[in-house]
Amino acid sequence: MTVKKALVQADLAAVDDIGWAVRLLAATPTHEHRDPELLRRWARAADAFGSALAPVACGARIVERDGGLELGLLARYTSRPPTVELYTDTVELAERVVDARGWRDWYPPGSVRAAALAHEAVHVHLHHGPAKAALKRALGHSALRLGRLRVPGHVAGAEEVAAHAYARTVCGLGRSPLLLTAALAAETGHGAETETRTGSAAGSTPPPARDARREN
Ligand SMILES: [Zn+2]
Repeated sequence: MTVKKALVQADLAAVDDIGWAVRLLAATPTHEHRDPELLRRWARAADAFGSALAPVACGARIVERDGGLELGLLARYTSRPPTVELYTDTVELAERVVDARGWRDWYPPGSVRAAALAHEAVHVHLHHGPAKAALKRALGHSALRLGRLRVPGHVAGAEEVAAHAYARTVCGLGRSPLLLTAALAAETGHGAETETRTGSAAGSTPPPARDARREN
């Protein structure tokens, strides 16, 4: 059996939502050597933050297109101008994967599209409002300590975890869309992400490399 086939057949659902969130963080640059327990704490905090977010309207323009499978994308947010791109071919594959894996109770018909839009709405929200600082505070990661002044640090990938948790909650899904993206990744051989790293970065402004070195 090839590695790809093994992944396709693996019981991905045996890993819980926090477990997938930890995997997402662990696979994100700057976290390669982090303590797994710290990653788990961040995963829980980001998941709780996303789950508790009040519903946010997506003010961005929505563009539907295909070509997502080739790019390994379900949807992405680009900030200039604020646009959510929804890749219909990937959405359709995701719906087929839900049926093939017997996950329809967790992801009702049409919920892939709804979850993708909800996910991207969080990126829009965090990009334009004060919620980004609130997420940093929730994570409690201090990048700098100057006497009593604590400067909340950036935790790469945390926004992704929060966006997936928000989508799970507002769309009433039985499991996080993170599980579905893992199944899509197994299906297509692409990484298990809603966006590429650059797509994600457009929504979340990545930390400059020097920040990554300064954090500990
Ligand atoms: Zn995202």
